[in-house]
Order: sequence, then C-alpha cells, then structure tokens
Amino acid sequence: MTSQPTVKTLLILGASGDLTGRLLLPGLARLVARGHAQGLTLVGAGSDDWTEDQWLERLETSFADANSQADSAGKRELKRIRETTAYRQLDVTAEGQLAKLIAGLEGPVAVYFALPPKISERACQALTPDDVPAGTRLVMEKPFGSSEESARELNRTLAALVPEDHIHRVDHFLGKATVLNILGLRFANTFLEPVWNREHIEKVEIIFDEDLALEGRARYYDGAGALRDMIQSHLLQIMALMAIEPPASVDERDLRDAVATLLRASSIKAPYARNTRRARYTAGTLGGRQVPDYAKEEGVDASRNTETLAEVQVDIDNWRWQGVPFILRSGKALGTKRKEAVVTFRPVPHLPRGFTGVDSPNQLRIGFGPDTLQFDVDVNGPGNVLSLDRATLQAELSASELLPYGEVLEGVLTGDPLLSVRGDTAEDCWRILEPVLKAWARDSVPLEEYPAGSDGPEGWPA
Ligand code: NDP
Repeated sequence: MTSQPTVKTLLILGASGDLTGRLLLPGLARLVARGHAQGLTLVGAGSDDWTEDQWLERLETSFADANSQADSAGKRELKRIRETTAYRQLDVTAEGQLAKLIAGLEGPVAVYFALPPKISERACQALTPDDVPAGTRLVMEKPFGSSEESARELNRTLAALVPEDHIHRVDHFLGKATVLNILGLRFANTFLEPVWNREHIEKVEIIFDEDLALEGRARYYDGAGALRDMIQSHLLQIMALMAIEPPASVDERDLRDAVATLLRASSIKAPYARNTRRARYTAGTLGGRQVPDYAKEEGVDASRNTETLAEVQVDIDNWRWQGVPFILRSGKALGTKRKEAVVTFRPVPHLPRGFTGVDSPNQLRIGFGPDTLQFDVDVNGPGNVLSLDRATLQAELSASELLPYGEVLEGVLTGDPLLSVRGDTAEDCWRILEPVLKAWARDSVPLEEYPAGSDGPEGWPA
C-alpha cells in the first residue's frame, strides 16, 4: 500500500549543499517516482544567489537516475515536481527571513535543515512559535548537538516550536526495512527469545568497517572522527534494537520507548584504556589504490588526533544483559568491508566424548545493506559422522525499494517519526559517549596506527 504525504511542501534549506545534491534529492526522486509523494511541492532555499534555472539543473541531475528507471506515471510525477518547484534565497539566521518564507508556503510544511549544524541551531533559535504553523515538521540532520548539554539545549529550542513527534532527527543508517528485519527476526521466532540473554550469549559485536578512506571529506570528518560519526548515533541505535525488550507493537511510541529504556541502562565504563581503543590510518593500498597517511590528507589537522577507527565496549546494566559485552566498532580505510551485527553464543556445556572436528560457538550474523542473515552451526559430516563441521544457514532479508534518504523522507512526509531519534535518546547517546571523548582528549588511551587496506592495528581482534 502506498502511504501518501500529509505534508504539502518540502522546504530544503541548504539547497546548494552536498547532502542535498548527493543524497536528499536522489532519495526524494525515487520516492516521487514510486508514487509516494503525490501532491507534494518542493522548495529549495539557500544563501546562494541561485537562479531558478540553476536549481532546476540540480534537480535534473539528481533526478536522472530515478527518471531513467521510472514507469510513465513515475516520470509524470517527477516532471510535475520539477514544474512546480521554486528556489528562494535567504539567510536562515537573519531574524524573520525563514519565518517569512514558511508563511508564504502551502502547509503543512516540512523544513529540512540540510545546513551546517551550527547554522541549523541558529536558524531554529531565530524562529518563534508563531512562525511555525500547526503541522509544521522540523527535520534535523546529524550531528544533533555535540554533547549531552548542547543536545538538551537544542531539544529545548525545538520543543518550544513544535511537538516532539513533529521533530525528525535523522539517522539515515537505519532504514525502515533494517529496523523491521531485526525486529522480525528477534520477535517472530520462539526459538530465539529464550536464548537471547546473558545465559546463552557471550558477546554481541556491531561492526561497520568501511573500505573507503577520507574521500575529500576532511572538513566534516576531521572535526568528528569515527566515534562521533558512527558510534554515537548509528551503532548505538543498532545495538538498542538488538537488545531491547519485546515491544507490544512496532509503532513509534512502543519502539522508541523500548529503545530509550535500553539506552538509559547502557554505559561505557572505565578503565577506558581497556574498554575503548582508537587508531588512525597511515599510508597504504586500498583496492589497488595508494592512500596517503590520514594525517597528510588535505584539510586534516594532524594535531587534532582524530581517530579513523574506534572500538568501544558498551555494558547494558539490566537483568537480561548484565556482563555481556556489546562491542561497537567502526573505521575507515580497512581492507575488508564489513557491516554486520554478530551474536556469539556460549559454547555447549559438554560435548559428548567421541566427537571430533570443529566445535565453535554458534554465531548469528545480521548483515546490513543488503540485509542478510547467516547462522553458523556445527553439523555432522559429510563423510565421517563423528566429525563435526561448520555449516552456515543463510537468508536474504527484505530490501527497501527506496534509497535510505527516501525512507527518511517518507517518514517525514507521512508524519511517521518511527525512524527518527527521539529527543531523550539523542541526549542519552551523548551521555554514553562523553566519558570516552573526555578520556581520549586527555590522551588516556593511545592513538594507535594501521596501514590503510589492513584489518586494523596489530593485536586488535579481526
Ligand atoms: P554543505 O556545507 O555542503 O552545505 C551546507 C548548505 O548550507 C549550503 O547549501 C549553504 O549554502 C547553506 N548555508 C550555509 N549557511 C547558510 C545560511 N546562513 N542561510 C542559508 N543557507 C546557508 O554541508 P552538507 O550538505 O555536507 O551537510 C549538511 C548537513 O547534513 C550537516 O548537518 C551534515 O552534518 C549533515 N550530513 C551530511 C552528510 C553528507 O554526506 N554531506 C551525511 C550525513 C549528514 P551556501 O553554500 O550558499 O553558503
């Protein structure tokens, strides 16, 4: 069934920016081409003195892919969006300018802040409750604040403008299909739930290893690093879904309550030199390409000691998970691309004497993008019936027909905040990470090195 937008106008602030061109507009195009955005008007805005033609050119390029794959109805919809769109120049931080723009648009309006984070904050501070008519949705990009306190402050600003369920804090990593795939696997199978706890699970790893290096993104990345960029938002969200208590429904209220409860029980404990690690890549070869030392990449300030690989152990202090380490790791320029959650079960208490061969603990692997499932089990044979061998049961999980940002926008346009990070959770994710950020800033944890294209520093588990 196609859900249609309740939002009438999508206003993208930062129309000339990288996010808009590379991710938002292509995501929107696929959504439009599949008939999920009927009746929607798109308005782009920015500080650049762009002509309508420049904006249309941008749409033409960003829509090209979706257009080439669309059926005739999809092509008509994409054409309609291009024919009804407009570009407005403004300084969003100047008093009254954004308010005036919103007032002139057909509501309800979704305001997408595709702006540098500080500018988004100032733009929201410049708005008053009277400037945002009922039904207005505010879409905030990551990073949401830079600490627990700043996230709280930003939440206060937003809460004065619109209700919480009209605020969309984007986490594009977790598409709807991925969220539902994890929940379906966990809660639609009676054999899993009884063993999904400290009695039977030894550890859970959530790994996002990229085989890409900096790719010219020093301006953003060098100020962030792997811990803030990936673990603070995306990987903690996945961890929460892997560990939450069974919700009564997959509605946003039940699900986001369960996620918030889980994260409130989570922390990274001292000593940080044991429970966290950080490293930075040096020159190496990646996919046949020479990659320079991170510290020598253009735009990088080496004295910042920005990590390109981070690993932390999160403890969840509740009945189910006490003592089970959740290892979260993410890095760039690694030899092997890996995006998965790996659940390692405890070994059997006693293997009957007489069996030979492999007896490794069971592992359940959930791969992300494309979503897959692998279950490693010990089985007999082939050949010698006493000899145990490893077999992997595999399945492909449901895939979305939309791009990740198409899923984000669908939630915004239909008024479903399921994929949005709730305000209390956004603050809590900073609370979990802050002691580590402080310990790293004090240099309590050494910054290790690994050659680009390797599997990380020596001594780190692969
Ligand atoms: P860019 O720097 O590429 O673009 C920022 C945009 O903001 C530009 O269009 C700029 O216009 C506009 N802008 C800046 N100041 C003002 C102002 N005062 N009034 C109106 N417009 C203004 O940033 P990105 O697109 O890379 O990032 C945008 C947001 O998305 C950030 O929060 C980022 O963290 C987040 N993000 C980005 C990702 C990416 O891959 N790029 C991925 C995930 C999140 P002008 O050039 O005219 O100043």
